[in-house]
Amino acid sequence: MDLTYTPEQEAFRQEARAWLEDNVPAEPLESFDTKAGFRAHRAWERRLNAGGWAMVPWPVAYGGRGADLLEWLIFEEEYYRAGAPGRVNQNGIFLLGPTIMEYGTPEQKARYLPKMASSEEVWAQGWSEPNAGSDMAAIQTTAVRDGDHYVVNGQKTWASRGAFADWLFGLFRTDPDSERHRGLTFVLVPLDAPGVTVRPIAQLDGETGFAEVFLDDARVPVANRLGEEGQGWKVAMATAGFERGLMLRSPARFQHTARRLVDLFAETRAAGVEIEPSLRDDVTRAWIDAEAYALTTYQTVSRLLAGGRIGAESSLNKIFWSELDVAMHETALRLLGSRAELLAEAPDAAASDAHPGVGRWLDGYLFALAGPIYAGTNEIQRNVIAERLLGLPRG
Ligand SMILES: Cc1cc2nc3c(=O)[nH]c(=O)nc-3n(C[C@H](O)[C@H](O)[C@H](O)COP(=O)(O)OP(=O)(O)OC[C@H]3O[C@@H](n4cnc5c(N)ncnc54)[C@H](O)[C@@H]3O)c2cc1C
Repeated sequence: MDLTYTPEQEAFRQEARAWLEDNVPAEPLESFDTKAGFRAHRAWERRLNAGGWAMVPWPVAYGGRGADLLEWLIFEEEYYRAGAPGRVNQNGIFLLGPTIMEYGTPEQKARYLPKMASSEEVWAQGWSEPNAGSDMAAIQTTAVRDGDHYVVNGQKTWASRGAFADWLFGLFRTDPDSERHRGLTFVLVPLDAPGVTVRPIAQLDGETGFAEVFLDDARVPVANRLGEEGQGWKVAMATAGFERGLMLRSPARFQHTARRLVDLFAETRAAGVEIEPSLRDDVTRAWIDAEAYALTTYQTVSRLLAGGRIGAESSLNKIFWSELDVAMHETALRLLGSRAELLAEAPDAAASDAHPGVGRWLDGYLFALAGPIYAGTNEIQRNVIAERLLGLPRG
């Protein structure tokens, strides 16, 4: 494997860096899980799109830059380096977009991808139901064919940013007599359609982006189906592969956190604070693991560029990045000692020489704790690894 960048890739990096330096907002935006923050992030996405940076590996005709996935990794590195805002349409651009690229008709690509790239349409993910979380094949929401429409009934839950999003993609039971993963179909549902009720779920931290979605005789055109009727499981597994195995959490995110952790260690030591020896090992391990994840991802991308596909090994990836994120944040909190408990808005949490942005570590830690749950819990990923990669008997 050749780990050097070509002159063209270096030029691409410089171009991305220059644009980001000129355009990234000086102050962090409010969380995109609040109404105002969502709006601000959508505006940022418009700006990215106008600059041609919304989704660099997509064809220009669909709102991309016509680059490849290696350049996307380079872009991600520059994006995190610049401290640019989180991607409010991540369910669209990183999960549904690549799935439409694989399974969509030409009409669907032209209809959905450009508006996704510009975030004129922001997407929510509708897998979970009250009785179908880890066991996604237990989905009960039905979509019954009536002429050229599906009539949808049931309830989805835990839709991230569903309270503000425009569309929801999900799996629905098109054959009400079917069982498990047979008879499911992948359908795109506009959240403003009659019969669709979106109800925010109040969170402990006061944010309101999470939503449950009720569907009562909502009529959705059959043209909104992605892939064949009854083949939704296969399509959804492609979406999950992009989520766990490549796009949702690019390595740059963790390399950036690892660099911040190294800086925090150096500043803590420079301030004369006594540091227990094991913390030094933990900081070193965090940095090594983030680099290892980056190299693994470059390997995955090289395989995809050579015509390969993402398979069950994406479960290994998901466990690795989610546990790494928790470990890095725990190490930071231990380094910060009692100051780790300060919220970002606390006066003493503001940047100081020794501890820049203390509260960001606590925020990051709280979100990192969700990593082993969302995108399929790590227990379920371990089952997948046992059964599909190691060939062990089903539990
Ligand atoms: C921050 C966040 C964002 C999310 N965003 C979305 C979203 O946008 N769209 C969406 O559809 N969902 C979303 N979810 C929901 C998420 O996908 C589910 O929470 C997850 O799949 C687990 O389902 P559950 O909560 O019903 O737990 P359960 O399935 O009830 O599981 C409870 C516990 O039992 C364990 N368990 C269950 N079955 C097994 C088994 N067979 N073997 C071993 N252990 C098992 C699980 O690992 C877990 O620890 C989000 C969740 C979080 C935390």
